[in-house]
Amino acid sequence: MEVATSTSLKFDVESVRKQFPILHQKVNGHDLVYFDNAATTQKPQVVIHALVDYYSGFNANIHRGIHTLAEKATKAFEDTRKTAQHFLNAQHTEEIIFVRGVTEGINLVASSYGRTFLKQGDEIIISGLEHHSNIVPWQMVCEEKGCRLQVIPITPSGEFDMVAFEKLVSPKTKIVAVNHASNSLGSINPIKEVIQKAHDVGAIVLIDGAQAAAHIEIDVQQLDCDFYCISGHKMYGPTGVGVLYGKKELLEKMPPYMGGGEMIKNVTFERTTYNELPYKFEAGTPNIADVVAFREAFAFINELGKAKIAAHEHTLLQYAAKELKALKCVRLIGTASEKVSVQSFIIDGIHPFDVGQMLDTRGVAVRTGHHCTQPLMESFGLEGTVRASFAVYNTKEEIDKLTEGVDRIIKFLK
Ligand code: PMP
Repeated sequence: MEVATSTSLKFDVESVRKQFPILHQKVNGHDLVYFDNAATTQKPQVVIHALVDYYSGFNANIHRGIHTLAEKATKAFEDTRKTAQHFLNAQHTEEIIFVRGVTEGINLVASSYGRTFLKQGDEIIISGLEHHSNIVPWQMVCEEKGCRLQVIPITPSGEFDMVAFEKLVSPKTKIVAVNHASNSLGSINPIKEVIQKAHDVGAIVLIDGAQAAAHIEIDVQQLDCDFYCISGHKMYGPTGVGVLYGKKELLEKMPPYMGGGEMIKNVTFERTTYNELPYKFEAGTPNIADVVAFREAFAFINELGKAKIAAHEHTLLQYAAKELKALKCVRLIGTASEKVSVQSFIIDGIHPFDVGQMLDTRGVAVRTGHHCTQPLMESFGLEGTVRASFAVYNTKEEIDKLTEGVDRIIKFLK
């Protein structure tokens, strides 16, 4: 099956699907339709192989070993750092810090930068679209330092109210932390503009790129963001690994987040000197295997190219929105003009959990609930939604199974 919006963006979805072993199974007697990609994507065989190769071929602790396996493991680990640097277009390799994922990246910045540089009365701005991971760490530091958390309101379609943002941002603003794309609604946010306006008042900006990394081209130098976080598992890579990008001059000023092995230069009982970047922020034995395999996920995305991926996913999103909207009682939630491939919806009078459970009986995996964005759901007056999120291996035929399933639920329960 060929998919295209123009000849140059063509690719063969079936050959992509063949690379994902998990997709070829029956769930509850039906072919699996996996539409929970915003929670975590599936992994191509190259990523799975890389994990097996590492553990069966060159498992060793990294950096200080002088034996062959340790050198091989260190090289593979550091190769992923270079690949991540290119993927984000960071200027320096030392600006790439390996973390467990976006959650840890944000906590690292909130804790290290926030506790050091924030003072009472300072303000932090987030948006109404944020995941709990980009709310709670800032609330914690606000509480500790006596700072104020401000929130950019959201329009009914699920976009930043930029007029309101301009009113909120002031010389009191020290940090702005927003997502590149929303996990619940899919909205792609005007982060370039946010970054510029924040910089105009001297604030630094952290971008939560969890939902952008697999879909949107990221260039941290062009964006001029101060921090950018990604998670491997949302971009065809392993769980438990991600990257925090930070501008070198900021990371250099920041104290370590955790103490332990690897992050030190010299330790005496009286005093410890810290290692240089990026190791200052990588205490303890890292998640070596998953970092090594993460490189294959970057390569998988690079090989297809974000333009092709985005074109395919856009076609799926448009189709799903049109088909779902046509069903009686279905209300789409999140209709921003620019979106990644996430479609939330509700069926009037039917709880999202019931929809999710009934779809599962037909092999269709969607996510239901608040999607770790409770304040956002509340602003829509909802407890939660049903969320279908699409990846590069999904097809229009699978969307037909979703809409057929939703239609049956409506007919059965209404
Ligand atoms: N931010 C957003 C927008 C997300 O979608 C997620 C994951 N659902 C996170 C942050 C947290 O990412 P992780 O669980 O990989 O740390």
